[in-house]
Amino acid sequence: NFEESKVLQNLPKQFFASLVKKVNAKVATGADVINLGQGNPDQPTPDYIVKSMQAETAKPANHKYSQFRGDPELKKAAANFYQREYGVELDPEKEIAILGGSKIGLVELPFAILNPGDTMLLPDPGYPDYLSGVALAQVKLKLMRLKEENGFLPDYDSLDKDIVDRAKLMYLNYPNNPTGAVATPEFFKKTVAFAKQNKVGVVQDFAYGAIGFDGKRPISFLQTPGAKDIGIETYTFSKSYNMAGWRIGFAAGNADMIEAINLIQDHLFVSVFPAIQKAAITALDSDQSTVKTLVALYEKRRNQFFKAARAIGWEPYPSGGSFYAWMPVPKGYTSESFADLLLDKAAVAVAPGNGFGEGGEGFVRVGLLIDEPRFTEACQRIAKLHLFD
Ligand code: PLP
Repeated sequence: NFEESKVLQNLPKQFFASLVKKVNAKVATGADVINLGQGNPDQPTPDYIVKSMQAETAKPANHKYSQFRGDPELKKAAANFYQREYGVELDPEKEIAILGGSKIGLVELPFAILNPGDTMLLPDPGYPDYLSGVALAQVKLKLMRLKEENGFLPDYDSLDKDIVDRAKLMYLNYPNNPTGAVATPEFFKKTVAFAKQNKVGVVQDFAYGAIGFDGKRPISFLQTPGAKDIGIETYTFSKSYNMAGWRIGFAAGNADMIEAINLIQDHLFVSVFPAIQKAAITALDSDQSTVKTLVALYEKRRNQFFKAARAIGWEPYPSGGSFYAWMPVPKGYTSESFADLLLDKAAVAVAPGNGFGEGGEGFVRVGLLIDEPRFTEACQRIAKLHLFD
């Protein structure tokens, strides 16, 4: 057996797995569970992307091993996309790496560029899978607390000097999972200054980059002057094109970090199925109208859920993007005891905030991945528990 394996020992407990187990157990009792706990996009991939993939799959040229550095045409399309959407210039060959979903890039980067024992900074609350990278790279983890009073942005001035001196790499994620917070240009400017002063590499996870509400487009970190000197941004097709199962994304920015990702990918993975890379070009080159329709759907659902929650006295944190609502826990409960109560007594599943780190305590995350009238029904069932009266 492999009990001695440090990597296996250190792999984080997959908290979503335990949530799914609890939900399934409730469903098995015959309950009509309203599942607001998960983060899996519910809409299908747009048809034009599926058709592109089908046509490309029929071509024998796409059946072979392909370049570990990714399809040069996709890298060009990604560079054009950043140019068009954000006014950011990127060298397709040196500043873009194609990934099998952004998660693999986020997990493998510390393994590629840090040494065991190095220090890495992660947001708390934060996307739990960053912890897998910490375990694989055997690095030391320091958390940056994201507080509501700071708009869930880290406060660099409050970090311990000793930790800052040792930190080599830092992760950010805006629009944010789980809080729905968005970054400001001033915050990204501060980040570049902080990173340069302290020699910390930055990875900004832009998974929800396309999903901004109230007419406000989330900004790209790479729009910040100097960002490419110290960092990269990861992008995914999973959310904006509903391609979560396809496993494709890319990283863009600092050429040294991109090269490190490319080299490690060659050893771990080789490349994404070429037909999927071609379909990804189709997605990026499109007029993005399906993305706009999708964002309008999420905004509608956010508004519907907020309305239903407010009607029972449950005041949401005002999310500016992503497809989550970040909801406070009533007095007398922890994130977990509240989530357990909702599942047990109201058959409503939510993700407890502490699953995203201690900094998520006091909140639960609601996924906006179902339609009305289920939001209203969920809130009406919760109202019967008289938690917000
Ligand atoms: N980053 C965040 C914040 C996410 O929420 C997710 C998926 O849920 C990912 C990255 C991973 O996305 P991908 O499908 O590109 O691996």
